[in-house]
Amino acid sequence: MDAQRHFSRKQTQSSLIMKAHPHSHFEFCESENTNKLSIPRHIAHFIDGKSVPGGDPTSDVFNPATGEVIAQVALASHAEVNAAVEAARTAFPKWSALSPLKRARVLFKFKQLLETHHDELATFITLEHGKVFSDAKGEVLRGMEVVEFACGIPHLLKGEYTDQIGGGIDHWSLRQPLGVVAGITPFNFPVMVPLWMAPLAIACGNTFVLKPAERDPSASLRIAELLKESGLPDGVFNVIQGDKTVVEALIAHPEVVALSFVGSTPVAETIYKAATSRGKRVQALGGAKNHLVVMPDADLEVVAEALMGAAYGSAGERCMSISVAVAVGNTGDALIEKLIPRIRALKIGNGMDADSEMGPVVTASHKQRIESYIEDGIKSGAVLIADGRNYSVPGFEKGFFLGGTLFDQVTPDMRIYKEEIFGPVLCVVRVPDFDSAVTLINAHEFGNGASCYTKSGGVAREFTMRIHVGMVGINVPIPVPMAWHSFGGWKRSLFGSQHIYGLEGIRFYTRYKSIMQRWIADSSAQFSMPTN
Ligand code: NAD
Repeated sequence: MDAQRHFSRKQTQSSLIMKAHPHSHFEFCESENTNKLSIPRHIAHFIDGKSVPGGDPTSDVFNPATGEVIAQVALASHAEVNAAVEAARTAFPKWSALSPLKRARVLFKFKQLLETHHDELATFITLEHGKVFSDAKGEVLRGMEVVEFACGIPHLLKGEYTDQIGGGIDHWSLRQPLGVVAGITPFNFPVMVPLWMAPLAIACGNTFVLKPAERDPSASLRIAELLKESGLPDGVFNVIQGDKTVVEALIAHPEVVALSFVGSTPVAETIYKAATSRGKRVQALGGAKNHLVVMPDADLEVVAEALMGAAYGSAGERCMSISVAVAVGNTGDALIEKLIPRIRALKIGNGMDADSEMGPVVTASHKQRIESYIEDGIKSGAVLIADGRNYSVPGFEKGFFLGGTLFDQVTPDMRIYKEEIFGPVLCVVRVPDFDSAVTLINAHEFGNGASCYTKSGGVAREFTMRIHVGMVGINVPIPVPMAWHSFGGWKRSLFGSQHIYGLEGIRFYTRYKSIMQRWIADSSAQFSMPTN
């Protein structure tokens, strides 16, 4: 049943509680007191196919719409990290020796279960992250697509073959798994980003330890349970809850041979340096400041609609959100005029309410951080057109809500332009021409995505060729690659040489081996380089 229809607005606001259940750690049910949540749940680890409660310390998990603490997540100790890595190490020889087809069959089953539990997973996301339920469902679907791609692993691991390279020798190459790999994921996609990593890693024959974000950790445990139900052997996929301490322990652990990280740039850089200095393979995806260029020939109605979704969807807490609109030539005034009524009409509310277009931000401290950026923008001379501070949603006065914020006359020296705000704040920068737009974007420290709205094929081509970012949209505001392509930025949006998922993911999670074989007698010593 569709969760959003199933749970009436009143129920979903505060009466959903999760109770221990013999088959699952979670079950949604109605509280007797419809205005209160039950005693906060304890969110555990998942090690070697079992739930491991963990003890103190813990960290609060909030429902951002109500501001209430709904759970406490365990923060793992070194001993628990060691237990998770040990489980993964023990499971590796058998799992990696299984045929790719058998590994794929587990993933086919997992895909089915993700479909069955689509609404449930999306509900976890909305309750702990705050994004609207339809967006949470979209997140789960984008994660499922990576599982679908990983189901093709027998084909993807085929390798290459050349017979008779010379002297009776045949030559082939294959890709073998690495061993125990770890994934460290951000709060803003608690289902999709773990699914960018784990399905491919385990399809390739690795075993996996996931360290989810501590702000919305529940979905990770449900993923672990569904993988187990799909037939994944114990120890192949483990979840270890926690913070920096866990990450440091994973980096230091000699059995962890590779790390995939997605999160902010300072942490991405620290993890990349620390883990590569220990000889580990790392892909660390960082923060972003994505620009959308508005050319004078663009249809401004279309652009305004695109910007609304791209800047304010998920309250701007997406690494592919558009946070800068680059108004070329004289497009600035008309663009602002089109945006103002749309920002005023933005439907902001509880993410479980079907009418909401934008939910709250993740925590009170993140809300304060965004507000301090708005104050900084005003002080630095940007023109505040729409102010999202002091926004209140009736019935949800304690929720972490902000309204849509719009700044005009933003310049590249301002902090609101240079830094990632990660909130519903759109900055308009005005430039005289296309070349200035390209120069502006290429000078920014981040290079995740950028898009250009134009009716000119020539301009579009120039943009795709000259722009220094990893993902480009032409009349597409958020160019997130599909699962069989790969996702990643340039410059300080990605540390490491491989993008995530797609064929880049297969390369990241495997080692290349080249084999030359001869079955004819050749006993003469050869002292010069062999040539065919
Ligand atoms: P974050 O960097 O604060 O946390 C990410 C992960 O790292 C979490 O699991 C967290 O527990 C852990 N962590 C935090 N501080 C750490 C430290 N000092 N040492 C080791 N580990 C640490 O990021 P976030 O706030 O959870 O997520 C938002 C950020 O993620 C934004 O910057 C956003 O752009 C970025 N992001 C990037 C992509 C991408 O594909 N490039 C995708 C999603 C999110």
